[in-house]
Parts: sequence; structure tokens; C-alpha cells
Amino acid sequence: MTVKKIAVIPGDGIGLEVTKEAVKVMKKVAANHGMQLELEEQPVGGTAYDLTGTPLPEATLQACKNADAVLLGAVGGTKWESLDFSVRPERALLGLRSELGLYANLRPAQIYGDLIDASTLKKEIVEGANIMVVRELTGGIYFGQPRGVEIRNGERVGINTLVYSESEIRRIAKVGFETAQKRSKKLTSVDKANVLEATELWRDVVIEVSKDYPDVSLNHMYVDNATMQLIRAPKQFDTIVTTNMFGDILSDGAAMLTGSIGMLPSASIGGKIGLYEPVHGSAPDIAGKDLANPLATILSVGMMFRYSFDLAEAEEAIQKAVITVLDQYRTGDIMSDGKKQIGCVEMGEQVLKHL
Ligand code: NAD
Repeated sequence: MTVKKIAVIPGDGIGLEVTKEAVKVMKKVAANHGMQLELEEQPVGGTAYDLTGTPLPEATLQACKNADAVLLGAVGGTKWESLDFSVRPERALLGLRSELGLYANLRPAQIYGDLIDASTLKKEIVEGANIMVVRELTGGIYFGQPRGVEIRNGERVGINTLVYSESEIRRIAKVGFETAQKRSKKLTSVDKANVLEATELWRDVVIEVSKDYPDVSLNHMYVDNATMQLIRAPKQFDTIVTTNMFGDILSDGAAMLTGSIGMLPSASIGGKIGLYEPVHGSAPDIAGKDLANPLATILSVGMMFRYSFDLAEAEEAIQKAVITVLDQYRTGDIMSDGKKQIGCVEMGEQVLKHL
């Protein structure tokens, strides 16, 4: 029997609640696919800061490094907002990304079942849309040097630098092509090559990499046009690969086509170990009340099976169970007429029942 080690780091707020439900689902799906799991749970974020004085304790980092995959809930909360930036809960995320070499962030935007009514767009525009945004995660303008605010000619000047090396572009482009290969073999590379030299290089390198993937059809789009097209006709997209900042913005835009933050999973990959987490935060406003929607985290477990364990059918089983459950049951964030409102724990139980 295959044995896989999973580091479970629930974090803060609703992270604790949604992870508990996702772990139950993970165990059941693993058992259904002849896989044995060894779980190690460790604190991260504000919870870890309270216990150890740091949001990413060494023991947590080691557990993640020793694992085959990591499941993260969410970090942050009002309680820790006044802490120094260096020990804020959110710092743990940056630490984990760089320590685990997670340079690619995969964010699917897909509508499950009749949740289509939760979208703010017209049904005919979004129905059937299924987009994967592959965002570069450890380079570009969020990390480039020089950066900062300085005085020039007697006034403050803010500086950030957009910088991408050929090798950084090549590795994320490969993730883009390989992701597209597993989907409908269509890749859109988003840049601003008409204005930014760094993304002119981006386009050149993506074209070079495309020679190794003749089965994937590639097109290029400027980011401003891509934003318009995403809202005008989202079904033209399958896989999008783009820079850190453009991906940050476009993935939120694409995700909102689906209407609810409680439904959005994500995967961060690139190194040996993948990290899986819901897109939402710790939601302090509903934490501890059994109101959170655990489906984003449960769907993140699905991505873990596909991307870390190469078990696409396990992800499909989870997605199918989620669609079946949504037919009758909803958490408060996605509630609509004719459905039964349930809490976080019962939503987890319902998904389990259908696996
Ligand atoms: P949030 O995503 O936590 O919440 C935004 C809104 O969506 C809230 O009204 C919340 O109740 C609702 N919501 C979020 N997830 C939900 C779910 N699963 N079910 C039902 N409703 C849900 O964003 P925020 O309020 O801006 O941030 C709260 C804290 O989370 C902050 O400390 C922030 O820094 C942190 N945060 C962490 C992450 C992460 O861990 N990756 C991501 C975003 C924000």
C-alpha cells in the first residue's frame, strides 16, 4: 500500500474548522484509492505565534519539509494585526513558499452544479466556464530589487522593480504548458509586452518553451485585454499563465466569475512538496461559529490528489461528491432559495457520505 505523509497546518480562525472537515475527506478518499496517510499536525500563523513567538516555528517547517504534501487552512486575524510585520501571521506564508520552492500557484475557477446563480454575471456568459490560472509566485515586481520609498529632489518616491530571468520564465512556462496538457491543451500567456521589456522577454521565452509542447495551442494577450475578455467571454480561456502581479489580479477576477470565495481551492507547486489551501482567509467575523464553508479546503484536498499524487480520479470523486451535496445543502455564504442551510461540520459530513 502506498504511504504518504501529509503535514496539516490549520492556522487560525476558520482555518481550524475547515481543515478538520477536509482531513476527514482526505482520509476517506485515500482509503478508497488504496493509499495510507500519515498525518502530522502543527501550528502556523497567529496560533503558532502565541505558542512559540514566531508564525512559522522550526517544527512546523520541518514537518512540511518531511511531508509529501502540505494542507494549510488560513492564517491571520484581528488579534495579531498590531504585531510587528516580521512576526505577523501572514509572514508564515511567504516563509513557506520560499522554503518549499513553491514558484507556481494554480487557481482554478469553475462553477459547481447550480451555484451559477451566485455569479454576478449572466448565466449564459459563465455557464460551463472552467479556467485555470497559473501564476508565477516567487519573482517579478513583488520581489525585485531595488524597492522602497526614498527622498529624491525633496519629495518621497516609491520604487519597485519588475525583474524576470529567463530561467524563472522558462520554469513557470513549463508548468503552464504541462497544466494545459492535462486540460484542454489551450494556453494563454498574459503579459504587457508592448510596454514592459521584462514581459517582452516573458513572451519570447514562452514562445521558445512552446516548441517542446506542440500539442498545446498557445496564444498571447496583453493584461488589459485579458481582463476585459475574462468578463466579456470567459469561456474562451482554458489555462492562463502569467506573472506574479498580473496573476494575483487576474486569478481573483477569474475566481469571482464563480461567485463565492468559500468555494475556491488552490495549489502551490514547483518544489518537491506541494502546498494546498483555500483561497479565503481566516474570516474572523464567522470563526468559531460553525458557519464556514469547508468546500474550498475540501476541493484543495482534491487538487492535492491530482497534483502531488497523480490521482486525477480522486479529485474527480471529490468534485462529484461536492456537486451532489450542493444540489440540496448549502452553507450560509452560498445559500439560495429551496436549499437547506447547514454548518461547516455537517457540510463535511455530507461530502463524506457521497464518497
Ligand atoms: P477572508 O477571506 O478571511 O474573509 C472575507 C469575507 O469572506 C468575510 O466576510 C468572511 O466571513 C467570508 N468568508 C471567507 N471564507 C469563507 C468561508 N470559507 N465560508 C464562508 N464565508 C467565508 O478575508 P479578510 O477578511 O480580508 O481577512 C481576514 C484575515 O485573513 C486577515 O488577517 C487576512 O490577512 C487573512 N488572510 C489570510 C489568507 C491566507 O491564509 N491565505 C488569505 C487572505 C486573507
